[in-house]
Amino acid sequence: MLVGEEYLVELTRPKKIIITTHHKPDGDALGSSLGLYYWLKKKGHEVHVVLSSDFPDFLDWIPGREELVFFSKNPTYGQQLFDEADLIFCLDYSALSRTNLLEPIIREAKAPKWMIDHHLEPEDFAVVKYWDSNAAATAQLIYTFITEVCKDVDAVDANMATCLYTGIMTDTGSFRFRNTTSAVHHIIAKLLDAGARNWEIHEHIYNSSTENRLKFLGYCLLNCLEVIPEYHTAMFTLTKEDLAKFNVTTGDTEGLVNYALSIKGIRLAGLFVDRTEIIKLSLRSTGDIPCNEICRTYFNGGGHLNAAGGNSNDEIGEVVNRFKSILPAYKEFLT
Ligand code: 5GP
Ligand code: MN
Repeated sequence: MLVGEEYLVELTRPKKIIITTHHKPDGDALGSSLGLYYWLKKKGHEVHVVLSSDFPDFLDWIPGREELVFFSKNPTYGQQLFDEADLIFCLDYSALSRTNLLEPIIREAKAPKWMIDHHLEPEDFAVVKYWDSNAAATAQLIYTFITEVCKDVDAVDANMATCLYTGIMTDTGSFRFRNTTSAVHHIIAKLLDAGARNWEIHEHIYNSSTENRLKFLGYCLLNCLEVIPEYHTAMFTLTKEDLAKFNVTTGDTEGLVNYALSIKGIRLAGLFVDRTEIIKLSLRSTGDIPCNEICRTYFNGGGHLNAAGGNSNDEIGEVVNRFKSILPAYKEFLT
């Protein structure tokens, strides 16, 4: 977790820096990236946050969003930034495959990579790893990187605080999950002091649904939810047709899996979505049920103990059946 002085000194001279994060960034991916962006700019660097995809509508207010570079829309410019970069930050992912179409570009870039992340089992691609799987969010690590590692407490301003608050809030389920330690609350207090307006951020993220998104939620609850009481498991299966009916966009399925987990007695919840090019799945659990192990072993993915994800090229019915067939193997946790 320590970062050597020989590396930190690099940040004292103006550099061309790229910040990358995972495909389809969530609140922590975007919040940590833009929080770091503002700090690095303040230190005199030329900084770009380069994304592999669009981001969910519920984040379309976050400070710095106008500065984002979308690689898929402008690959020539994006490639030029990577060619010229002196340093590449890799935030909120521990495996390069999570950056989708940026993977080969990051892999081949000659600039050194600095990883700041909280996922398990990091791949070995970074020269600097500021990594802690006990951290609630990458945004929490950005805060401690700035204030403890770089000892720049006074630099945290309202924009940075807003971005980092967003990351920590979304990755802790609004300070409800097991990862919400007292250290998290201490940092949150500092972010409020620095100008994060908590009520506005909650309003933006949780009270900004469209009518269509809410009706889609109702449709999923009514038509796509299956409960397997003997294994205390519940899941949503969304076909291409379901998505098309509601013209679902990035972020519309965010949080859906938690409704399955909110059923009394349910310990393991799943969401299976047919995104045409791939089947994407999300798992959530309570207690010691290892979502990350299940995703890693059976679904080409990974993540945290209680929140993980994966994907498959198989047909959706097959993926769901595979999930059902592995439940008996976890019966010590599920029954
Ligand atoms: P979500 O279910 O919200 O997409 O992802 C929950 C967590 O699971 C993420 O924070 C990430 O750690 C992990 N995750 C999701 N999808 C994948 C994947 O395809 N591969 C890996 N390794 N981890 C994933
Ligand atoms: Mn995260």
